Amino acid sequence: MALINEHFLKLQKNYLFADIAKKVNAFKATHPKADVISLGIGDVTQPLCPAVIEAMHKAVDDMAHKDTFHGYGPEQGYLWLREAIVKNDFLPRGVHLDPDEIFVNDGAKSDTGNIGELVRWDNSMAVTDPIYPVYVDSNVMNGRSGYFENGHWSNVTYMPCTEDNNFVPVIPDHRVDMIYLCYPNNPTGMVITREELRKWVNYAIHNDSIIFYDAAYEAFIRDENIPHSIYEIRGARKVAIEFHSYSKTAGFTGVRCGYTVVPKELTAATMDGNRLPLNPFWLRRQSTKFNGTSYISQRAAEAIYTPEGKRQTQATINYYMENARIMHEALSQLGFKVYGGTDAPYLWVKTPGNTPSWQFFEELLYGAQIVCTPGVGFGPSGEGFVRLTSFGDRANCIEAMERIRKWMNK
Ligand SMILES: *Cc1c(COP(=O)(O)O)cnc(C)c1O
Repeated sequence: MALINEHFLKLQKNYLFADIAKKVNAFKATHPKADVISLGIGDVTQPLCPAVIEAMHKAVDDMAHKDTFHGYGPEQGYLWLREAIVKNDFLPRGVHLDPDEIFVNDGAKSDTGNIGELVRWDNSMAVTDPIYPVYVDSNVMNGRSGYFENGHWSNVTYMPCTEDNNFVPVIPDHRVDMIYLCYPNNPTGMVITREELRKWVNYAIHNDSIIFYDAAYEAFIRDENIPHSIYEIRGARKVAIEFHSYSKTAGFTGVRCGYTVVPKELTAATMDGNRLPLNPFWLRRQSTKFNGTSYISQRAAEAIYTPEGKRQTQATINYYMENARIMHEALSQLGFKVYGGTDAPYLWVKTPGNTPSWQFFEELLYGAQIVCTPGVGFGPSGEGFVRLTSFGDRANCIEAMERIRKWMNK
């Protein structure tokens, strides 16, 4: 008899986006003429930039001719892309990486979900609350999270990010083996300063922990003092794995490409105290379970690093960040407490009068025909907040703010 992996039975049903869709559909059924604007989705809306489109067309043509056809590529990704990454994403920040420390992937979600395979199932772990659900759920599947009790997993240390601590998680007072950090943060849109990040790196060095650093939104950072990579902190390459994605940076949510950095200096211990580097094991893992990202996607990613690609990508990011600025300003003027949105495409908005997230979601939908994401869907500390994204069209953003103004002044 084949026995199921019973850890799957423990997974909590994540109904967040399904519940939102259900409630929006119910509203539309009773208000067929209503024009609903969604500020809730986490997907981008603007098309790929011309430099990327051109590179993709060319890559398709390569595939059409015997001499330039590409079959299986290197599991770790084409060297030309890994070199472009090292040269453009890290060297300008004073971080010297070897292309062998870069692993091209099909987006950051797969690797943030799979990376836990590198360490024993009984390591302890810590996450911020609220949080991107992949980090916890992927560890539930391998049994590391323990069992679910009173809204929490027994083997997970939760670090609340609240108004009181200005959304900077308090470093645990005990040792934890694995720590997931995401900055700029989804869902709060908040960033981490160099000083705060240094504390984490020092904690990891001191406690022999590994930090899994999700930098999916690094391209949205405006403030020059905010680190784009954890490797800007001295010693981080001994203790951190970093995830990057072109999904939000360059609209690659449907193209699929990103990369993971596993530095050669990063080690973990065997039970008898031997220290082993993890980089060769991740290469072995990828070579066994992954056959690479498509040639066309990697050529598309390479084009982001050309001068035109950089300019065009930045223009789209600026477009989204101007949406964020417009929403931040409008909502602040209306008296909302708004966090994030200056170095990330997300606004974390406190509901007025401590209204519960879901109640405010309904009020906003019925009152102004606007969809937001209830903060509590990202974890208990998200209660009393909603997340708005700036990934929409400018006209919709402006219209949405106008509707909220009218609704508030009723
Ligand atoms: C969108 C997102 C990613 C990127 O996922 P892809 O698989 O690269 O599309 C990673 N981490 C966070 C927190 C995200 O919000």
